[in-house]
Amino acid sequence: MFENLVVGSGITGAVMANLLADKLNEKVLIIDRRNHLAGNIYDYKEEGITIHKYGPHIFHTNNKEVWDYLSKFTDWHYFQLKPKVFLEGHFATLPFNLTTLYEVFSVGTAEKYENKLISEYGYGAKVPILVLKKNKDEDLRFISNYVYENVFKNYTSKQWGLPPEEIDESVTARVPVYISHDNRYFQDKYQAIPKQGYTKLVENILNHKNITVKLNTDYNDVKEKKFKRIFYTGSIDEFFNYKFGQLTYRSLNFDIKHVDKEYYQLSAVTNYPNNYDFTRITEHKYFLDEKSNRSIISLEYPQEFKLGQNERYYPISNKQNQELYEKYLNEAKSIPNLYFAGRLGDYKYYNMDLAIERAIKLFKEVYE
Ligand code: FAD
Ligand code: UDP
Repeated sequence: MFENLVVGSGITGAVMANLLADKLNEKVLIIDRRNHLAGNIYDYKEEGITIHKYGPHIFHTNNKEVWDYLSKFTDWHYFQLKPKVFLEGHFATLPFNLTTLYEVFSVGTAEKYENKLISEYGYGAKVPILVLKKNKDEDLRFISNYVYENVFKNYTSKQWGLPPEEIDESVTARVPVYISHDNRYFQDKYQAIPKQGYTKLVENILNHKNITVKLNTDYNDVKEKKFKRIFYTGSIDEFFNYKFGQLTYRSLNFDIKHVDKEYYQLSAVTNYPNNYDFTRITEHKYFLDEKSNRSIISLEYPQEFKLGQNERYYPISNKQNQELYEKYLNEAKSIPNLYFAGRLGDYKYYNMDLAIERAIKLFKEVYE
């Protein structure tokens, strides 16, 4: 008899299962309807190259507790993402920063804008594009318009089907204009990729005598069974059979190509805001510095999430969805011993570290 059911074997479900099994010494059944572990961080090897099936994943966090916890299950390959953006026919530094200024403008012009940005915001400041756009100074307006038009407007409309002003400000603020020559995408203290990949990491997290894993198993297949507690990391609207309506998501389609070159591009990730229908190209061998004469890339095409046709990737944060989510959450609260977590269960745009933080916090709330 299992005391706990965990629905979903993504990083949230895996951490939850591990804590229940290890700290409480209780039996856990963890199920996933996919035919593999690890949810959207799943990776697999082809031609000696580790492919991130559901998009490029770089682990980054400032949270030492999360870093230490994961480090029990993996060795790390230290990796810091320095992506490129294809701008006006050239590959430039992303996030847009002081280095990018010198890549796209003449030295004199770049110097002028560099000084202006530093005196206005201070060296090291991170300024979301929608904040920069509000600045009335003529030079800064030129810069903000340039960045808005060339980096954000078209990428965002491909990614979300909406212009930047019509999505939650926190989304474009994930990639602020950075008043710095630090060319990394993230500045977190800890940044790395699991040396044996994310799937192996999740396998290790779940490798515990109290844990049983069942793949190809939907919640509907087990819901008649009795469990002391249920932790659900699938979509909360689906759990309630969409009784109040569907939460909306953005989905993605990946076109994976094998290329007959040692390297296809300059960096693991290159964004294409203004050209083509895809948003970015990932070259997978960079993540673990895997050597091969050939390479594998994936082109990322955003699309609407359609039930039964594709996967949920990004929750869409707007007023309507937030209200709908709250309705489901209220409903959930009325059912004892049922808990929701994760990107789908909480309907939040979590990075991996926040998903783990959330699982640890929920575990503590329920059991301490
Ligand atoms: P998921 O990984 O979605 O897991 C949920 C699991 O539940 C799935 O396996 C699903 O099959 C299963 N499930 C759902 N419903 C049911 C059901 N009814 N029955 C059985 N099983 C069910 N984060 C970073 O920190 N760094 C990055 O670089 C990064 N890059 C990203 C790139 C992309 C393109 C995307 C989309 C996300 C990225 N993320 C990144 C975020 C990261 O993917 C998430 O934080 C993480 O995967 C969330 O894990 P989760 O367990 O909450 O959800
Ligand atoms: N964004 C953009 N241009 C870029 C990179 C990001 O407009 O070159 C915007 C876009 O709206 C995107 C958001 O910033 O959805 C967050 O970008 P991030 O790279 O964090 O997206 P993720 O990796 O989560 O898909």
